[in-house]
Amino acid sequence: MPATGAASKLLENATMPPTAAKSEPSSYPALESVLVSEADIQARLKKLGAEIMALYGQEEITVVAVINGAILFTADLLRNIDNPIRLDCIRISSYRNETKSTGKPQVLGNLSLDLANRHVLLIDDILDTGKTLSLIVSMIQKLNPASVRTCVLLDKRGRREVEFEADLVGFQIPDKFVVGYGLDFAERYRNLPCIGVLKPHLQNPPEWA
Ligand code: 5GP
Ligand code: MG
Repeated sequence: MPATGAASKLLENATMPPTAAKSEPSSYPALESVLVSEADIQARLKKLGAEIMALYGQEEITVVAVINGAILFTADLLRNIDNPIRLDCIRISSYRNETKSTGKPQVLGNLSLDLANRHVLLIDDILDTGKTLSLIVSMIQKLNPASVRTCVLLDKRGRREVEFEADLVGFQIPDKFVVGYGLDFAERYRNLPCIGVLKPHLQNPPEWA
């Protein structure tokens, strides 16, 4: 689903992070390089919050966060938005094998909030093949919301397998498997305050098999 109208203008605001061009060496032992620093993330969230407030005016927003990945991003982003907000979460079965996408994502469990006639903002950590968000958006659309928009922290635009663009994007990043700030490898590294590329020898540790 292509972003339209005012939203497509906002997409142009998505930037390569200042550090991405040089891929800073990391002071985090697990990371080969830092793609987006903690300071870059927090500065971008202030601007994303302002973009969201401009889009919604005084309206109440019903946020649906895709967990676990979007937990840290959602928690920090919502603190930059003044609108009244309802928050729900949705969990997707992992359809990824190690760092690759296989099969089809499936929605696990139910939303607890009613979305009918509500302005829904769906938040995920990263847009990659597009399968996850296109599945969730079509599911939400069946619930008759007043509107549905999508916001992702990271976008690997070159990797799309289904046609999908988010309305709001934090950073465009290159096609690299990243961890940190909510993003995991085998459930680890979500707590790093920045986003970086995992050292190759840590990508298949035998003790996690
Ligand atoms: P898509 O369905 O768009 O291919 O993938 C979206 C999901 O795949 C994200 O919510 C995230 O869980 C996972 N994913 C995609 N790329 C990465 C990555 O570089 N690192 C991590 N940790 N997860 C990723
Ligand atoms: Mg995810």
